[in-house]
Order: sequence, then C-alpha cells, then structure tokens
Amino acid sequence: MLQFTKYAPWFFLAAGVCVGQDYCGLLNQPSAPGANPRSATAEEILVRLSREAGFNPKSYPLRDARDPDLKLQGTAAQTCNVNQRWIFYDADFVEQIRIKGDSDWPKYFVFAHEVAHHFNNDPDFHQPNQEKLADHAAALWLTHMGASVQDLVRAINAFVINEKRVGEYPSRCERVAEVIQAHNEVTQEYNRMGLDRPLYEVRNCAPMEWTRSVVVAPPDVSQMSPGVHARRRIEAKAQIAADDVMKIGTPAANAKFPVDFDHDVAGMCAVSAITIGDQLTWDNIGVCALMK
Ligand SMILES: [Zn+2]
Repeated sequence: MLQFTKYAPWFFLAAGVCVGQDYCGLLNQPSAPGANPRSATAEEILVRLSREAGFNPKSYPLRDARDPDLKLQGTAAQTCNVNQRWIFYDADFVEQIRIKGDSDWPKYFVFAHEVAHHFNNDPDFHQPNQEKLADHAAALWLTHMGASVQDLVRAINAFVINEKRVGEYPSRCERVAEVIQAHNEVTQEYNRMGLDRPLYEVRNCAPMEWTRSVVVAPPDVSQMSPGVHARRRIEAKAQIAADDVMKIGTPAANAKFPVDFDHDVAGMCAVSAITIGDQLTWDNIGVCALMK
C-alpha cells in the first residue's frame, strides 16, 4: 500500500488523484450519515456508468466517508482487503463540483474516472499517464452517454485547479486536451456511421469547433490532372466528405487512383493532411479504422 506523507492541500484539489492516502481504514467507520451527493446518488451514477462501460456495479463498492484528506481529494479508488475494489468519496466535494460545473456531469466524471482506475488496474500504483488514461476513459463513456465537449471541459474545470503538471498529475489544460481528444474519437465513430457532428481543436485551453468549410483559396482547376481533388484542406485522419472533394475530367477506367467519390472515397479518411487542390491517391487516403 502506498503511504505518502502530507502534500500541500492544493495538490489534493487536483481531484480524482485517487492515490497518495490509505483510505481502507475508513471501512471500519460507519459511513457518513446522509452523505449521498444530492440530485443523483453515487449509487445511481455507478449503475448508469455500468450500463455504458459494461461492468457489474457491485464490483466497485462505494463508501461515502468523512476524512480530512478525502475531503480535499474528493474521490479515490483503492483496493482494500486484498481484492475489494472500493471507491471512496466525500459527498460535500462531489456536490460542490456539481454546483461549480452547473450540471451533474462533473459528478459522473469523477466516478467514471475512479472506475477507470480500477479498469486500468492502477488505483494503488503509480503508472505513467494514469490520470490521463482515466480521464480519457471517463470522457469516452460520458460522450456516449450524451455529454457535449463543453460538458466534459466544464467537468474538468470544476475539480482540477493545478495549472501546472505536478508529478504524474497533468495540468488542467492537459486534462482539457485529453477529454477533447476523447470526445473527437467518439464523434469520428458517429460520423463514420453517417452522422455529421463537429470535431474540436484545443484553443487556449478550451474547445473550438474545427470548421472544415474554410476554403483558403480557389484551386486552379486548369492545372489539375483528371481524378478526385481536394476542394479544401482535409485534416489528417479526418473522414472525407463529398463536399471536401471535386472530380476533374474523366479518368481512364483502369486508373490506379480514386476516380469517383461514391465508388472510391466515401467512408475513407485522409492519411495525413491533404492540401487544397491535391489529388486523392491510394497513398493519401485509407480506411479510417486503420488510422487510430
Ligand atoms: Zn485519478
């Protein structure tokens, strides 16, 4: 069991840190009376998460507890009594981040983050990037449950206050970038199934919708050889839409390059960024699923 000495309080306020204290002793105390976070109980949240992530909620018993360190840390995942995978939480902290984030999503996020630590088998041992991995999993699940990218970022901002990385605890902006990336991954899944949802990039520690309709300059069609060409810049790994490209001339039937959007390009992604005017080839486009 890892047993660390006291950290400065702000360190624990990088909540969901999950390690650093031994909370198993709290199992010998009565649980905190009336401590369930209001508006959705921890048990309800765990059940909802279990449906999304596919686990038995009984595998991760919850314990609301009053403890000075837990009050600052907020939530913690810890293995107790050899193989019991507990999630400890301070109900006041959880309620406070709900108010700060102005929705229940921060509450869902911190419990999902702790479940992810158990999934990743790292609640008791420090692993590189374990906080980012837990944030990433939480963001994937919550996006599937309907959280917007703004909901995810508000959740991070509700409980992470360290602006700089501390040990393996990423900075607030690193965690914001992580949840935006996870949200984009789910969006790309949806878009491959035919939806048309926006992707986001990180600008000043916040999500900004990535607009691919920005045409930098009209391509000089007269200089293009027959084939399918980019009408606008197509970002790396982005799925190619019909209005991203234009067909020039009449390529030979036996051409060794894509000749038609519907036949050759639909459902494919750019291997790397394709510049406006570039011809699409079998080298610069490929199957999206192979580009993870
Ligand atoms: Zn954590």
